[in-house]
Amino acid sequence: MLFQYRNLLSMLYERSLLNSNRNNYYSIIRQRKYVIAQTFPSVRKRDIRPHTEMDQTTADDMNDQKWMAKALLLAEEAAILGEVPVGAVLVKDDALIAEGSNSPIKDNDPTAHAEIAALRRGAKVLNNYRLPGTTLYVTLEPCIMCMGAIIHARIERLVIGATDPKSGAAFSVYNIGNDNLLNHSIVINKGICENECRELLKRFFKSRREARKNERKK
Ligand SMILES: [Zn+2]
Repeated sequence: MLFQYRNLLSMLYERSLLNSNRNNYYSIIRQRKYVIAQTFPSVRKRDIRPHTEMDQTTADDMNDQKWMAKALLLAEEAAILGEVPVGAVLVKDDALIAEGSNSPIKDNDPTAHAEIAALRRGAKVLNNYRLPGTTLYVTLEPCIMCMGAIIHARIERLVIGATDPKSGAAFSVYNIGNDNLLNHSIVINKGICENECRELLKRFFKSRREARKNERKK
């Protein structure tokens, strides 16, 4: 299922790179929403529960993949706008509370990371400045700023796609997720749809390098 999803997204991504005008962007977004609705019909339903006969671990994994696929879609949307592709979704009791994608360039806002956007919207939806009992899915390991916000928000669980060995602050460069000096520790699960998340970033930076190279040739 994920393989099919990845192929369809790659196809749309390549197409979006060929023509990045705004009308095309909206048509791509519509197509992507169609793709994810076809591939993961359960993503938009609020009350999906694992099948009772299913092994619990497998069911949890599948559930995590379902929400990470949604975060990947948001990351793809960021990429189309020229932002580093990172997406995040906030979930509580297997229901989508809020979503966010990376937009610091578009918004002229150094804090406009996907996680911050999802936390801000989630706090408004839940009408609470803290978000206990929630899970945040993010396609790339959060930075220092986002880990700080995640601690402030009292997120219960953090699910990470690709790790970030250069600036990841959940466990890679800093270990803010489980720092005994802080008054809140988070359950962290990593490696959910890791290849898809990493591949998307790699492809984005590669296409950006190529575009710059072509620009210099002109
Ligand atoms: Zn961040």
